[in-house]
Amino acid sequence: MLHNVPLTTYRGRPVLEADAVPQAMSEFALDVSAGGTRMEGKENLMDKQPFQTEVRQLLDIVIHAFYSDREVFVRELVSNASDACEKMRLKQLTGGDIYQPEKELRLSITTDEEKRTLTIADTGIGMTRQEVIEYLGTIAHSGTKKFLEMAKEGKGQAGDLIGQFGVGFYSVFMAADEVEVTTRSWEPEAEAIKWVSDGQQGYSLEEAPADTPRGTSILIRLKEDAADFAKPNHVRYIVGKYSNFIGFPIDFNGELLNTVQAIWMKNKKDVTKEEYESFYHFIAHTDSAPLTHMHFSADAPIVLNSVLYVPEENPEAMGFGRCEPQVSLYCHKVLIDSKPDNLLPEWLRFLVGVVDSDDLPLNISREMLQDNSLLRKIAGIITKRFIKHLEELAKNDADSYNKFWERFSRYIKEGVVTSWEHKDALGKLLRFESTFTEAGKLTNFADYISRMKEGQKDIYVLFGANRAQLEHSPYLDPLKARGFEVIFLTDGGDQFVIDSLIKVDDKQLKSISRADLELPPLEATPDAPGIDEGQANKLTTWLAEVYKDKLSKVTTGDRVSTAPAIALLAENDLSPDVKAYLKAMGQTVPETHPQVEFNPHHPLVVKLAELQEKNEELGKMLAAQLIDTALLRAGLLEDPAQLADDSHRLLESLLGQ
Ligand code: ADP
Ligand code: MG
Repeated sequence: MLHNVPLTTYRGRPVLEADAVPQAMSEFALDVSAGGTRMEGKENLMDKQPFQTEVRQLLDIVIHAFYSDREVFVRELVSNASDACEKMRLKQLTGGDIYQPEKELRLSITTDEEKRTLTIADTGIGMTRQEVIEYLGTIAHSGTKKFLEMAKEGKGQAGDLIGQFGVGFYSVFMAADEVEVTTRSWEPEAEAIKWVSDGQQGYSLEEAPADTPRGTSILIRLKEDAADFAKPNHVRYIVGKYSNFIGFPIDFNGELLNTVQAIWMKNKKDVTKEEYESFYHFIAHTDSAPLTHMHFSADAPIVLNSVLYVPEENPEAMGFGRCEPQVSLYCHKVLIDSKPDNLLPEWLRFLVGVVDSDDLPLNISREMLQDNSLLRKIAGIITKRFIKHLEELAKNDADSYNKFWERFSRYIKEGVVTSWEHKDALGKLLRFESTFTEAGKLTNFADYISRMKEGQKDIYVLFGANRAQLEHSPYLDPLKARGFEVIFLTDGGDQFVIDSLIKVDDKQLKSISRADLELPPLEATPDAPGIDEGQANKLTTWLAEVYKDKLSKVTTGDRVSTAPAIALLAENDLSPDVKAYLKAMGQTVPETHPQVEFNPHHPLVVKLAELQEKNEELGKMLAAQLIDTALLRAGLLEDPAQLADDSHRLLESLLGQ
């Protein structure tokens, strides 16, 4: 009779469709489709399921992971047991029908040297059949492919990667020949399930005894060379190393282990550096130390306790794609949400840690988390405090701050652009090179302002690809002549940062390639040789007419001394970077009409004025060269090929004469 049950349902419940798994890749799948792997017990039915392809690939990596990485599986299973209890605690506190509601929340760890087994159990939330299939048979995670590639190439130790990526359960197969998971969900009507696997192709599922207590018990039959994990002292050592912060009693072979509870609720004077570090190891699933941490408590206007860490490395630079939120939300030590989407602003997504507020309602739903004025207030307070923490770090430990800046500057810049409320404070955290710094050395706005010259009103910036290019920019000429410092900005997004910031301490940020740059007059210098005013007027009138489609204005002036001409961006024109960005976003971009200023003292300009009288054709060719080169330098030349053609024509004409 049971043989007739279609594969996709089992006792009226849907199970994973066999079709979801590509058929040909495993013998196991073929077995399933042949229907030959279901066995009828007395009252029970054993159902074999293949792992999802990605799980099998992961297991292949896990099984071949470094021997030294192995112990992380204990950390991962204990962490899952703790998560399950946290979820259960919230359910208990918010009411509803629960299986075995009185059952105390706790973990238990049992070793058996003789049988070479280790058992990690909890009285937490448990799993239904459907959940077991989903959670212990598939990986639903974007970026899985990238992760698998990295783990395979051995970039970063596999053990560390596994936990951070959130596929910790499978790490058990580093040490296991076979794993038996017995679980009973909190849902009153759920059946108890036994899941067994050797971590090869798939797993089997069967119903567990009806009196199975709530929670999950994971029995690990250890590999021969992993027998250490059945030794009490070894396991006690590992549990102590990673699991000091479990908020539930841990019963170890019948004896209660000491745990440190909720360090974020403590006074920071009472927490040691080691405790902060090991709490970080625990929540970030890593062995590396954090780059910096902040412990913050407040009683008013909101009761808040928070510990936040900046990781050693920028996780997005590792190629996993965008980080998911990693700051958990607690209400008086009860975990409400381990990955709330909207707790902190997006640009703080690299932070790992805990935010706890007594003022939050326990039964706050995901929807309420989306739009809650209290949460917004909390985010505001924490963000402000974290920015202050970074400021202090910069002041007291420049090396650490520089390291932070090197790895996380893009988030700070993102914050300037996206956060109206905090942008001024974030502006103080920015670092950059300038005409006054050595190559590779950084400065900041406060120091820039302290160095401003008498008569200097504004802060000057110049955008470009790199320092070497910027150092030779003709735009620097008038600033150099006045002894003014110019900030070099070489990141693609810097234009947006400056456009958002607008000013620092009431000092306008001015891009020195714009036409509206106003500089205090220089002391009169004796007239350098060049064309006179009359010639200059004639020249500009002529060129304005010839280039009326391309340029909005042609002038002469003394803004630059080293180049014959420069192109200037009109006040309301979009800069080349912003234009390129908008174009890439598929938006229509208004045309720019740059201006060109000629340097009346430059020998080529003197020559040009001469040619206007004597040989207009050649004059036009020279003008085209000077103008295109100026536009190119400013990133405003629409068609660089034209410049090459023009210069060839000019050369031919000159050499042919
Ligand atoms: P993560 O913990 O990052 O989600 P894991 O691979 O460690 O990834 O675990 C996968 C999922 O399996 C968990 O999210 C949870 O839903 C489920 N799970 C694992 N262990 C337990 C357990 N002891 N009790 C209840 N659910 C569990
Ligand atoms: Mg886990």
